[in-house]
Amino acid sequence: MLHSAAYSFAYQQILVLIAGAVCLFGTWVGMRHFARARATDGATRHGWLFMASVGTGAALWASTFISILALDPLLTSGFEPVATGAVLVIAVISCLVGFEIGSRHFTLAPEAGGLVMGCGVLAMHFVALKAWHIQGSFEWNAYAVAITFVLGLGLSALAVNRANRPVTRWCRHGAAIVLAFMICVMHYSLTAAASMAPDASVSLPSYLLPANLLAVAVVSAVLLVMGSGFSTYIIDLRARTESADRIHQLSFNDSMTGLPNRIAFNERLAFDAAEAHEKAHKLAAFSIDLDGFKDINDLYGHGAGDLLLIEAAERMRKQLAGGEFLARQSGDEFLALATSGNYPHDAQAFAERISRAFAEPFTVQGHAVDLTASIGFSLFPTDTPERDQLLSNAKLAMQRGKSTRQGSICAYSREMDDSARKRRALARDLDHATERDELMLYYQLQTSLNDGKICGAEALMRWKHSKFGMISPGEFIPLAEETKAIMEMGEWALRAACRDAAIGNIPGTVAVNLSPVQFGREDLAEMIHGILMETGLSPSRLEVEVTESTIMSDQSRGLHILRKLKAMGITVAMDDFGTGYSSLATLHAFPFDKIKLDQTFVKRLPHDAAAAAIVRTVLALGESLHMPVLAEGIETEAQWDFLAQAGCAKGQGFLFARPVAVAQLPTVIEAAARFVREPAPATAAAPETVAA
Ligand code: C2E
Ligand code: MG
Ligand code: MG
Repeated sequence: MLHSAAYSFAYQQILVLIAGAVCLFGTWVGMRHFARARATDGATRHGWLFMASVGTGAALWASTFISILALDPLLTSGFEPVATGAVLVIAVISCLVGFEIGSRHFTLAPEAGGLVMGCGVLAMHFVALKAWHIQGSFEWNAYAVAITFVLGLGLSALAVNRANRPVTRWCRHGAAIVLAFMICVMHYSLTAAASMAPDASVSLPSYLLPANLLAVAVVSAVLLVMGSGFSTYIIDLRARTESADRIHQLSFNDSMTGLPNRIAFNERLAFDAAEAHEKAHKLAAFSIDLDGFKDINDLYGHGAGDLLLIEAAERMRKQLAGGEFLARQSGDEFLALATSGNYPHDAQAFAERISRAFAEPFTVQGHAVDLTASIGFSLFPTDTPERDQLLSNAKLAMQRGKSTRQGSICAYSREMDDSARKRRALARDLDHATERDELMLYYQLQTSLNDGKICGAEALMRWKHSKFGMISPGEFIPLAEETKAIMEMGEWALRAACRDAAIGNIPGTVAVNLSPVQFGREDLAEMIHGILMETGLSPSRLEVEVTESTIMSDQSRGLHILRKLKAMGITVAMDDFGTGYSSLATLHAFPFDKIKLDQTFVKRLPHDAAAAAIVRTVLALGESLHMPVLAEGIETEAQWDFLAQAGCAKGQGFLFARPVAVAQLPTVIEAAARFVREPAPATAAAPETVAA
C-alpha cells in the first residue's frame, strides 16, 4: 500500500476523534450505571457494577484499538485474535475491580480505584500494542513511555475521583470527559513515544485479524455499549416509576394525621437517596420531636393530645414545598426529608420553616398552649453515605439539641457520635458501679431557719469512676434511670443512708432521693421496710424525697406506694418544687410532709421581685396545706434572712454546709454551730431540731 503522510494525518485525526467519542459515550453510560451501583446495595449493587464495568470496559477497549490504528492508519497491519480478546477481558476486569474499590468507604478509595483502572488501561495498551503486527518496525522513546504511564494513571484516578466525590451534578459527566480525554492523551503521547518505519520485507502472519475486521468488531462493541446502556436505562426508569407509585400508595397510612407513615418514609428515603447519589445532590433527613407533649397528654387527656397532634401535623404539612416530605414516626415524633441541591443551608432553612409552624399557640380545651418542636438533621452523603445511619444521626442531633434547649434546631456533627459513645460506655460501667464499690454517699446538712440548728441531712450519691474520677449525679442519675441501673443503686443508697443514720453518724432525719424509675417495682415499700428492719433505723428518722414526675408518670401506683410508706411512719418530701408542673393537684393528691422549694428561686433572692413573690406564694401555699417548706440552695446570709422572715421553716445550702462524705460530717456539724441563733419571735413554725 502506498503510504501517504498527508492522508495518514487526516485519517489519524478523524480516528482519534472517533476514539474519543466512543470512549465518551461508553463511559458516560458506564458512569450512569456506576452511580446507580453506589446508590444501591446487595445483589443489585453487584449487578450495576457489572453493567458499569462491561459498558466502560467495552468503550475503553474499542477506543484503545481505534487510537492504536490511528497511530498510522494507512500502514498495513493486523491484530492477534487471542490478545485482542484478552484486551477486552483486561478492560472489563480492571473496570470492575476499579469501581468496586472506588465505591468503598475508606479515605482514598476513589483514587485507589482509579489507579487500578489506570493500570488496566496501561496494560490494555501494552497488550494491544504487542498484538499489533505492522509491516515495518517500531522504536520506543523511554521518556515518552514514562510520561504516558504517569498521564494514564493520573487521569484515571481523577476520573474515578470525580465519579465518587461529585460536587455538582455535572461531575458524573466530568468523569466520562476525563476518561475520553485520557484516551486522546494516551494516543498522542504514544505517537510521540513510537516511531514506525514501514518495511515491505516484513511479512505479516496469516492468522492475524485484519484491521478492517477489527473495525467491525469495534463498531459492534460500540453498539453493544449503546444497546446495554439504553435498555438498562429503560428498565431502571420503569422500576423507579413503580417504586414512586408504591410510595404514593403507602403515603396516607397514618389514619390520625393523614401523613405518610414510617414505612412510606423508608421507601421515600431509599428513593431520594438513590436520586441524590445519581444527581450529586444533598439530601437532608430531619427528626422532629414535640416538646413536652407527654405532659399535655397527662394534663388534658389523650383525646386532646390527639387533636393537638393533628393540628401540628397540618401546620407542618402546610410548610412543605416541592422535593420535601413529611411523615409521622410514632407518638409525637415526625420525620422529614428535603432534597437540598448543593446548599447545606437549605436544610437549616427547612427546619426553621417547620419551627415557625409552632410560633402561634395551640388551643387545647379552650386554653392557649405553647408548643415547640426540637428538630435535628443530618445531610447525605456529607455526614454519612449510609442512608440508615442518616436517620440515626438526625435523631442524635435532635436529642442533643433538646437536652440543651427545647425547640432548638441542631445539625448533626461527628463529635456527637463521640459523646454518644462515651455515654454508652459510661452506662455500661454504671451497671457495675455498685458491685465495684464505686458509689458513695455525701451528706448535706439541713437547718432550721428559725434558730439555725441542724435538723437533718440529705444523702446525695456520688460516683467515683475508676478512670474519669468523680462524676456528678446530674450526669449519671439520668443515665442510670435510662438503663434502670438506678433500681440497684437506689437500693444501695437507701441501705447505706439508713445504716449511717442508725449508727449515729447523722443528726436528725436522713433524707434519701427516690427516682421515679424505682416506683416501677411493686415491692418498693416492702424493700424499704426490710432495710429499716435490717439496719434498725426508726422509720420516723427516714425521709424519702420524690419529684412531681413520680406522681405524674403513674398516679395511682405512685400514690399507693407513698401511702404505704407514710403508714410505716416514714416522712415524704416533694423535691424540686417549682421546676415541673407544680400543680396544686399534685400537692392535693397526697399529704406531703414537706415541700422542698427548688434552688432556682432561692438563688435570685432577695432582690428579684418576681422570685420573691413566687417564694412567698409557695410559703403561703405550704402553710395553708400544712406542709412545711424547705428552701434549697441557700448561699448567702441575706437569702437566709429573707426566707426566715417570710416564714420558711427549713433550709439547705452551701451557706450552712456543702455535701461531704460521712467521715467529714463531724467537722461540718461543728462548723455549723456558728449559725445557731436566737429564734425570731415573729416566725410561725418552730420545727423539731436536734442539737448540733
Ligand atoms: P436534689 O435532690 O435537688 O439535691 C440538691 C442538689 O443541690 C445537690 O446536687 C446539692 O449538692 C445541690 N446544692 C445544695 N446546696 C446548694 C447551693 O447552695 N448551691 C448550689 N448551686 N447547689 C446546691 P447534687 O448532689 O449534684 O445532686 C443533684 C441531683 O441528683 C439531686 O438534686 C437529685 O435529684 C439527684 N440525686 C442525688 N443523689 C441521688 C440519689 O441517691 N438517688 C436519686 N434518685 N437521685 C439522686
Ligand atoms: Mg433531693
Ligand atoms: Mg432538689
